[in-house]
This record gives sequence, C-alpha cells and structure tokens, in this order.
Amino acid sequence: MHQDLAEKALAIHRRLCGVYHCPIPYFHDLDPVSELISSLLSHRTRNAESGRAFKALRARFNDWDSLIAAPTEEVQALISGVTWPELKAPRIQAVLRAVQERAGSLDLGFLRDLPVPEARAWLEAIPGIGPKTSAAVLSFSTLRMPALPVDSHHHRVAQRTGLIGPKVDVGPAHAILRAQLPADWDAQALYDNHEVLMLHGQRCCFHRNPACGRCALLDLCPTGQAREGARAPWETAALHP
Ligand code: SF4
Repeated sequence: MHQDLAEKALAIHRRLCGVYHCPIPYFHDLDPVSELISSLLSHRTRNAESGRAFKALRARFNDWDSLIAAPTEEVQALISGVTWPELKAPRIQAVLRAVQERAGSLDLGFLRDLPVPEARAWLEAIPGIGPKTSAAVLSFSTLRMPALPVDSHHHRVAQRTGLIGPKVDVGPAHAILRAQLPADWDAQALYDNHEVLMLHGQRCCFHRNPACGRCALLDLCPTGQAREGARAPWETAALHP
C-alpha cells in the first residue's frame, strides 16, 4: 500500500475529527443479530425508515426465532417503508436461518473471540451478507470490534479525495481503506474514521453539489481543487468575499 495514501488518510481523519469532534458516540447499542437485521434493512433506505421498520419487527416478535418462522408476507408488510421490502423480507429470514444453522443458535457473541478478518469471513460466507453488513455487525453492535464499514457517503468522500480510484466499488473499498489506516487502531478509532467521513459526505461533500468552497479538506482534495479552479471569478468571489 502506498505510503502517501496512508499519510493522506491519516491527515483526512485528523482534520475531520477536528470538525466533527471525535470520539463520536456510538449510535446503536444492539446485540449482533439485531444489528445484522438493522443493517440489512438499511440498504439504500433512509435511517428514519429503516429505524421504523426495525421497531415494527421488534414490537411484533418476542425473539428473532419467531421472525424466521413467521409468514414472509407478514414480515414484508411490517417493513413496507424500506426500499425493496419484497426482497429484504425473505433475505432477512434466509440470513437468520443460515446463522442459526451455522452457529447453532441466533447468538453471534462467539465472533468476539475471532480475529476481525476471520469474523468478517464467517459472516460474509452467508449469502446476503457483504462487506458493509459484516463490518457494521462487528463495529456498531455490542461486539464493538475494530472493523471499518464504508457506506455510500464515506465511499464518495474517499473517491473524491483520491484515497480510492474512481472505479473502485464500495465492496472492494472496504479492504483498501482499512489497509490505509494504522493496523493497531482500536474499535473507537475505526468507528470514528467511518463516522467522520460519512458525516462529511452528508453535510459538505454532497452527491450533486459538494460545498468545496467551505470544505476543510480542500487542500487535500483534487476533485475540490478542480471544481474551485473551474469556477468563474465572480462565483469564487461570492464564496470568499
Ligand atoms: S473539497 Fe469538495 S469534493 Fe473534496 S471532499 Fe471537500 S466537498 Fe468533497
């Protein structure tokens, strides 16, 4: 891995930690299987909607074994507010069934005793669990393991700042971005890294019109410099009076 990129990744982390005030408090306190369900619900869905769907499942089922046994149409109706409920309902049931078969129960606490790459591989061997979901389960749940999730905001900021190339998808980006950060970082440090890049994507590096003129990363970002350089002088003057 290129040393320059490791230094840049660290510089971006420090800069954004200053802006968004690390350490960032964990937003979830869910057991790993609950976090797995929450993560499967959240794909391409607003947090408010996936949160509502998760609460509806929690309210309806006393335990997650009952969710596996429930009619799929009922699960689909409970999560109708998320994107693609007709795909997510059977997928969630199939994933939970696979966990039950492979682990012997719906308890993923044993993952805590595995090294992170092995824990991720165990999860990703189940069809329907990709790198983002496996990292979310390890990092966001009560396992609190040092794994780095990459969502679409995180991915966009990493691409625009040049940490990853323009053709690197979210899946492969997980290993590349993790390798750029110090190997001995703990769970909180990696969580902070994900959170600050995600927050930056939500609050400044917008999908359509990134606010490069007020971005704390402008001097580190080739995309922002190209955009600012392409502005007409009167536009730049309006941003920097
Ligand atoms: S300078 Fe612009 S493109 Fe680069 S990270 Fe900031 S907002 Fe995004």
